[in-house]
Amino acid sequence: MQQIRFKAYNIGNYLNIPQVQQYLTAEQQNSIRVVGTVLPFKVNEYVINELIDWSKVPNDPIFTLTFPQKEMLQPQHFEAVDQALKNEMPKAELKELLHHIRLELNPHPAGQMEHNVPELDGVKLTGLQHKYRETVLFFPAHGQTCHAYCTFCFRWPQFVGESEMKFAMRETELLKEYIRQHTEVSDILFTGGDPMVMSTKHLKEYIEPLLDPELSHLQTIRIGTKSLSYWPFRFTDDKDADELLRLFEKIVASGKHLAIMAHFNHYNELKTEVVKKAIERIRNTGAEIRTQSPLMRNINDNPRAWSKMWKLQVKLGCIPYYMFLARDTGAQHYFSVPLFRAWQIFKKAYQSVSGIARTARGPSMSADPGKIQVLGTAMAGDEKVFVLRFIQGRNPEWVHRPFFAKFDPEAIWLTDLQPAFGEEKFFFEQEDQFYHGHRLEDLNQLAS
Ligand SMILES: *Cc1c(COP(=O)(O)O)cnc(C)c1O
Ligand code: SF4
Repeated sequence: MQQIRFKAYNIGNYLNIPQVQQYLTAEQQNSIRVVGTVLPFKVNEYVINELIDWSKVPNDPIFTLTFPQKEMLQPQHFEAVDQALKNEMPKAELKELLHHIRLELNPHPAGQMEHNVPELDGVKLTGLQHKYRETVLFFPAHGQTCHAYCTFCFRWPQFVGESEMKFAMRETELLKEYIRQHTEVSDILFTGGDPMVMSTKHLKEYIEPLLDPELSHLQTIRIGTKSLSYWPFRFTDDKDADELLRLFEKIVASGKHLAIMAHFNHYNELKTEVVKKAIERIRNTGAEIRTQSPLMRNINDNPRAWSKMWKLQVKLGCIPYYMFLARDTGAQHYFSVPLFRAWQIFKKAYQSVSGIARTARGPSMSADPGKIQVLGTAMAGDEKVFVLRFIQGRNPEWVHRPFFAKFDPEAIWLTDLQPAFGEEKFFFEQEDQFYHGHRLEDLNQLAS
């Protein structure tokens, strides 16, 4: 098959994009330069030509998803970098400034660095995260980039060379041994970056050892990817696309469940013929596609965007899975939607689809103690409260247990919330010493 090659652009050559010249003002072009110097920027011709409607720019959702805009940085940060670039600040000094700003953007939310890196015989496995009992996250070394970058990405430090903030691992053997020893693990989630930037050859090297009957407790292989949106050719025209689908078939034939965890933010990403074909080809291998997205102001912060997206996904045979809330990192101030509004958007979208699309759960915060869903608001006596629950918990005993926070229409994250009813702490905070610093298996023993 003819290999399709689309040009990719980044901060070095974005002025060569014809639409940037045609549709953006000099000021908007400069903003790409300034913001794209701090946060990662990469986009390809498929996204530019097929997904973005340039007549709607700068309000087009896929434009906002991939092109840096001024307000994505705090004004003082924007000002500092703008001046530095205009005054041609010496390289070393600029690097220092960028490093400083990036650290202020809170690169490792949810305590991932401190708490979730597991050990094997005393060796830290820096390419793994094991936060929830059943599921191990794996960051393959070859999958630490993406076909294009999302402006809201919380993994952005991995792409801008802030190397001490990186996760990645080469060793399949260590991964296999870790799973062999951890019989409580039923799922592995390949993540990145985007594992689908890898060649099929590399993917095989990582996945095939996991099909060993010795790991029969491993039931599900999940692959988190944005490739269906940014590069659906991965499953259709890439030169190893067919081989990739054969690998999927092999996983399914081994008796394991293969789940493609597809990241879609907007129904416009589902409109091209090639994405439909890619979805069909994946589904024909026996793999399931589950979809997830954060709720982002300026991209998808209305109920219709979600109900339309979910309906289309279901029509194409995908299963809606998560609606997330914007993480406290990077450009959160630009994208975040208050919890209360997020719940209203979710509720309205959920009400307008049939039960088949109500597999979506949210809005959910991936916070340090776990994935916390906003179930709604309620009156308890004369106190107005948020009702919340853990979808996933650092301690498995916390899952599906409703709890309450004081109502606050402005709150955008768990850390903005206060316990209801005059309590000093949330129940999971009282158990703080119980989970911090404990290995998961100790925790499981304690819990059982
Ligand atoms: C979301 C998530 C998982 C998977 O949780 P599920 O509820 O099984 O989808 C695993 N690990 C981490 C760190 C996560 O954030
Ligand atoms: S595809 Fe995922 S990892 Fe890659 S830039 Fe987007 S949000 Fe980040």
